[in-house]
Amino acid sequence: MLTPLYDGLQPLGALWMVVDLRANLFPLLNAIQQGSATAESMLLQREGSDVVHINPLRHRISQPLERLASMEQDNDLVAVQAFAGIRGVLYGPDYRRHQVLAASGVVPDSPWLLVSKIDVTEAFAHDQRKEGVFLGLLIGVSAFLMLSTVLYWIWLTGKREHVLKLELENHMRWLERAQKTALLGFFSIDWSNQKIALSPMAAEILGTQGLQQLTFSDFARYLPPEQIKPILRKLLEVRRHGTVQKIEFDLRTQHQQAQIRTVECWCEMEDVAVYDQTAKIIGTIQDITQRKATDQALEQYRNLLEHQVRKDSLTGLSNRRALDEELDRAWRHAIRENQPLAVLVIDIDHFKGYNDHYGHLQGDVCLQQVAQVLEQHVQRGHDHVFRFGGEEFVVLLPNTTLSQAQQMAAHLCQTVQMQSIENEAAPESQVVTISVGVASMTPTKSDSLRACPLMEMADTALYQAKSAGRNQVCVQRPD
Ligand code: GH3
Ligand code: MG
Ligand code: MG
Repeated sequence: MLTPLYDGLQPLGALWMVVDLRANLFPLLNAIQQGSATAESMLLQREGSDVVHINPLRHRISQPLERLASMEQDNDLVAVQAFAGIRGVLYGPDYRRHQVLAASGVVPDSPWLLVSKIDVTEAFAHDQRKEGVFLGLLIGVSAFLMLSTVLYWIWLTGKREHVLKLELENHMRWLERAQKTALLGFFSIDWSNQKIALSPMAAEILGTQGLQQLTFSDFARYLPPEQIKPILRKLLEVRRHGTVQKIEFDLRTQHQQAQIRTVECWCEMEDVAVYDQTAKIIGTIQDITQRKATDQALEQYRNLLEHQVRKDSLTGLSNRRALDEELDRAWRHAIRENQPLAVLVIDIDHFKGYNDHYGHLQGDVCLQQVAQVLEQHVQRGHDHVFRFGGEEFVVLLPNTTLSQAQQMAAHLCQTVQMQSIENEAAPESQVVTISVGVASMTPTKSDSLRACPLMEMADTALYQAKSAGRNQVCVQRPD
């Protein structure tokens, strides 16, 4: 260092101080690098297009003022970047070509630059380690979670599979049992190759002698010819519209004497969503011969009961229940057709006396005889005789006027008397006679709201006939 000395404005001399950088500054530079393996500070100077170092280098044995880099050829080096004017923090290779993190600054009042640097690997070693540990932890935890999820999923799937397997086994067992007890067969129809696959029971029902694969023409041999077309039509219906169809048909009997057997099939598409050529029709087949016979017998029995419940067991005539239904029907019909409807109420005269005299059994016979006479003489289409109860009968005469009904009543009266059934309890005639009350009317639409009054009217007329001496006919006209 050279410093001039003045006395006021008068120069006196100069103070020249020589400082040995090596003794004073360089150890100072080295002191900054304590504790680091790669940190280094360099005092640099530019000489032409060369950058030279002034202090000794840590990682290279070379003399001070030796060339460190060339401004043209090594422009990526941090030392050259610093001389190119870049200040602050620098990245780049150093003279060893190691990636370093550097800071540059001008040494005031000198041509030197101070560049301090440290290897990037050392500078970020701590952060990288932390990052590594964190990443490792993250990967470890994720892997553990994934592994546990996979293991849990496998365990769950296994468990579900086991449950499904058990359920399936149960269903199969149930199906097997159901098949055996219900005698139900299964089949599937593959339209693409025109083949029918049969379960053993289905084969037995059709009587294929163990054959479980049939072509369409094989199958047709088991059907009566006239039923082939309707069956085919129903199968096409299933295919086209995916509907469930019941097909009932008789099996063609192999022997003339063999009983005709009827089978019932329920058919549907295997997968309703698929309508291509590969979709199959599946279904059940059941021999319903026995069931049909039972159904028919039950139907006959039911019809018989229906009939009997409307029959009078003693006389065989329709009873009062039948009369109630029939009268209602005839009344509504008369209103609709604007036709007259007539009712005769018939009562055997002195019948109590008859019973007393001849006994109840004979009384029953008498009732049967009178019933037969009435039935034989009430023959016109819809005319009908009923036993009303006791020794009373009712005759319904649709589309009959009062005078026509009166004639019919008189005719019946005469006919019964002409049977000459002895009745010593009848003081006037000594034979069985009847009294008849007659009523007839043509109801109008407004009458549809009320019950038929004809029975009441005819009963009143009967009472009059009894009062007037019995064995006669009386009529009751509508008001
Ligand atoms: P009326 O000339 O006034 O009709 O006198 P009636 O004696 O015929 O009349 P009543 O109603 O007093 O008697 C009817 C009798 O008919 C009473 C009953 O013993 C008898 N009777 C009713 N149902 C039956 C039956 O099913 N069988 C027999 N044998 N008698 C019957
Ligand atoms: Mg009576
Ligand atoms: Mg009587």
